[in-house]
Amino acid sequence: MRQGKVEQYKDRAWLHRKYYVNKLSLEKVGELCGVSHNCIWEWLKKNGIERRSHSEHLKGKPAWNSDLTSNVDKRILAGNTHGMWGKIQPEKSRKIARMKAKIWYMKNPTFHKGKNNPFYGRKHSEESLQKNRKANSMENHYNWQGGLSFGSYGTEFNKGLKLFVRQRDDFICQLCGVMENGREHDCHHVDYNKKNNNEINLILLCKSCNSKANRDRERWEFLYQTLQEIRGTRSVDND
Ligand SMILES: [Zn+2]
Repeated sequence: MRQGKVEQYKDRAWLHRKYYVNKLSLEKVGELCGVSHNCIWEWLKKNGIERRSHSEHLKGKPAWNSDLTSNVDKRILAGNTHGMWGKIQPEKSRKIARMKAKIWYMKNPTFHKGKNNPFYGRKHSEESLQKNRKANSMENHYNWQGGLSFGSYGTEFNKGLKLFVRQRDDFICQLCGVMENGREHDCHHVDYNKKNNNEINLILLCKSCNSKANRDRERWEFLYQTLQEIRGTRSVDND
């Protein structure tokens, strides 16, 4: 009797059920029969049962690091102990990561879309909306820059001047070269001073390129001045 119970692992159907249906590990099956996991592994092979894949094995289990922090466990890298602290990945690896993400989303088109989104049909409470607004508004916003953009436009910055700039720049975005298509491009202030409405200080940009100009101001200022010089819209004779 006892013999039969102990050697259940030699029974293909039993072993298959424990391993594949009950999803027990080799160790757990071995414990049931009082043998090592290697023994179970041998009998899986003998019975022609394939090993479960690693991802299958991990499914539903918490990650090894789920409850750990860098204070408790030295393997958790955080802050300045992390090798990537203060560095950015090279453009090449970031590009690869973006491509991989793109492919993944193409293969999983319904991921977090519509009803699959965990937030589907729910709404933020007015309280949390207020909290978010407060956390990201005015000087709390990451790109606040001392409220630079709140300086108002001078009175000269009107439709007539904008039309002049649009015509001068051939209705083409001076950065990416896209033509206006049913939507007017923006007249961007090269030196970011909204009161400086000299035509030299204005350049035509599409909405997309103009939104990029909100960061790295010095870099863009230099680039746009150079672009204008190349085009000749910045030379003194042009006035
Ligand atoms: Zn553009």
